[in-house]
Amino acid sequence: MSDPESGSRATIAALLRAARAQLAERSDSAALDAEVLLAAALGKPRSFLYAWPDHEPTTSVRARFEDALTARSSGTPVAYTLGVKEFFGIDLAVDPSVLIPRPDTETLVECAIERIPPDAVVVDLGTGSGAVAVVLARERPDCRMMATDRSFQALRVAQGNGRHHACRVNWLCADWTAALAAQSVDALVSNPPYVAEGDPHLAALAAEPASALVSGPDGLDAIRAIIGDAGRVLRPGGLLLLEHGWDQAEAVRALLSDAGFEAVESVMDLNGHERVSVGQRAVGALR
Ligand code: GLN
Repeated sequence: MSDPESGSRATIAALLRAARAQLAERSDSAALDAEVLLAAALGKPRSFLYAWPDHEPTTSVRARFEDALTARSSGTPVAYTLGVKEFFGIDLAVDPSVLIPRPDTETLVECAIERIPPDAVVVDLGTGSGAVAVVLARERPDCRMMATDRSFQALRVAQGNGRHHACRVNWLCADWTAALAAQSVDALVSNPPYVAEGDPHLAALAAEPASALVSGPDGLDAIRAIIGDAGRVLRPGGLLLLEHGWDQAEAVRALLSDAGFEAVESVMDLNGHERVSVGQRAVGALR
């Protein structure tokens, strides 16, 4: 970072001003990013910045802040620099092997908390950071929670989050439903990759694992794979809850109905987009 107005004091206020200017082009939350990163470099809460705008951070704090700004300017999300992201009221460790949990996914979690029957066996498919599995394990301790991911690195992050929050989750390194026995599950929950290849939106997400984001020409490959095998692993009457793109609800409902799911419906996120679709495996269906 260039020295804030050479000759002037490198106070918190001056450092933030320079950082905001540096990040303005890269981030649409430049002011917030600058504050969060400076607070982290200082090892203080953000309120410290407002209380002590004239404080001059030490050179080692400034060096840490400059490194964080350089990373942010070159596209590293704040969550990867901090190593942590808040989701559903808890802090989760994240690193570049996992998708950063999004507020959108809170819709999936709320839906699952409400709809999953008591004492269910629940599996989170493609758990990534473990966000969905850890929150469900905390909110629904009556259930038996399992989670799969084909990335061993992601599972290590997830397992660490489970341990940190004292959750009981069985973590399985496997592709979607591959490790699950026939008719062994009461509810499948997943936030799979669902962005279409070549979607311009991906440019802004380049730091995150493509395997957690991109899923074939229409973004529906993973969802098709999950729906295709869900009938095998779910018990009759079992639930499938899927997060998907804001414009994919109709297609996902059709896939669910075509696969014999009943009571198919979609649920809106806080932005008013149909973000989660749900289906129930027919009771008595043989497949
Ligand atoms: N909601 C994410 C985004 O578009 C995508 C997450 C996903 O593919 N599961 O930023």
